[in-house]
Amino acid sequence: MNWTGVDTAQGHGSLLISGARVLDPYGELHRPPVTDILVEQGRIVALGGEAHARGRSAQPFDARGHLITPGFVNAHCHSHDMLLRGLFEQKSLESWGMIAFPFNWPSRGAEEIALRTRAHGIECLLGGMTTIQDMVTLVDFKQEHAEAVVDAYSQTGIEAVIAPQFSDLPGVAGIPFAEECFSASELAALGGGVDFEPVAEKLKSIFKHVSAPRLSWALGPVQLQICSDDALRWTADHSAETGLRIYTHLYETRSEAVLARHSLAADSGSAVRRLARLGIAGARLTIAHGVWIAPDEIRQLAEAGVGLAANTVTNLKLMNGFAPIRGYSDEGMTIGLGCDNSSASDAQNIFQAMKTFALIRAMQSAADDESAASEAFRAATVGGARLLGLQDEVGRIAPGYRANLAFIDVRGPAWRPFNSAVRQLVYGEPGSGVSHVMVRGTWVVKERKSALVDEASLCRELDQTRDRMQRDLEDVWRKAAGFGRGYAAVARRVADEPLGFDARSLKPPAN
Ligand SMILES: [Zn+2]
Repeated sequence: MNWTGVDTAQGHGSLLISGARVLDPYGELHRPPVTDILVEQGRIVALGGEAHARGRSAQPFDARGHLITPGFVNAHCHSHDMLLRGLFEQKSLESWGMIAFPFNWPSRGAEEIALRTRAHGIECLLGGMTTIQDMVTLVDFKQEHAEAVVDAYSQTGIEAVIAPQFSDLPGVAGIPFAEECFSASELAALGGGVDFEPVAEKLKSIFKHVSAPRLSWALGPVQLQICSDDALRWTADHSAETGLRIYTHLYETRSEAVLARHSLAADSGSAVRRLARLGIAGARLTIAHGVWIAPDEIRQLAEAGVGLAANTVTNLKLMNGFAPIRGYSDEGMTIGLGCDNSSASDAQNIFQAMKTFALIRAMQSAADDESAASEAFRAATVGGARLLGLQDEVGRIAPGYRANLAFIDVRGPAWRPFNSAVRQLVYGEPGSGVSHVMVRGTWVVKERKSALVDEASLCRELDQTRDRMQRDLEDVWRKAAGFGRGYAAVARRVADEPLGFDARSLKPPAN
């Protein structure tokens, strides 16, 4: 492939891409036609015959043998624990968190934060994801750590909406029956809460002083059960004032639903009613997971315009169950797909996310489901774009949209014979077929390698950092093991509580 001329485009010149089948989420999904794409100033300006006619003096790019899709949107992920991939087998969320949550670790330096962020961004790009929503934990909200994240992402060329995660209540507020299941010393060791006002000030300072092209900020109340009403009201007000979007985790586990029933009497035991009462449930809010949710709560979220970031792989890995995907989609909610924590799902891989989403959706359907693959593809593109407020900018291959493109090599066996682009993409493509990726008209991946970051030295640094982390990791494991008895007691109590529905069952939702 001749990249020499193409490099001069770098988002500024014009480029005529030809010879590839082009898969737009609202176009022909099974046998999309070979179509020219004209890119100028980082945007798609014309397609087909018009692109060909207007692009005579543009740099040509021969994309024969490829399927071009919009750059995928990773609608929910966490860069902070990418160094912990591969450390766990199946584990409950609570015991996983003891090891994976940054608060349980000694504080990390800006250099390590930059490294893990760069690696996370590169992994997403190599897998065809051009735009991501990162709920990142920055312990103590240090500005230099926020700068490390922003600089690292900028080096990779990825687009990111970054929500620094925050909470103010003690961790035990999120654990049902904590007082009964843990000793006094264990409760003390699980940590106290913090004053929210300084947290809000630090967040506002980061939003004001740290910025870069292609990156933007959002609000990330981490889990509702450890955020006070005051913190959530501030979140709603700040979002209304600034337009910043809000991302949070909701009903990921059975224990969270049990906790809501016990602790939210004023909201009839519903975390969704609490969201509505505090003014936070609206079109700028996306919830991640939504596994242990009752049908009437889905309806309330849909009526409020809230979106869902589904994380099907993590929900299986952490043994939480199946989000009622059909229920959300029947209510008309916008659905995007996330790859979530690298320590929980082990990979930032949108193809795994699409495939599990499609399979679970089909199992929840009352009859044959002819659109599971299409809906998975749309969730991974236009759905995610909507959740990031970027529906007019990314997620489609159409004039006016950013030139965020993933080129998938379809010359291999997974693609022969070529029967359906969308089905072979969702069910057959592992992700290794992504050969080139463009963000805003600039090449960020060429021939399966980052165009902007030296991968060999990145890998060397990752290996060295992992070696340095070994002692900390052993300490964290040891400390976590001390809470094993208490968490097992909580799990037994939670399992005994009736909820009236079972998110571990794959039956079609009963409405
Ligand atoms: Zn998450």
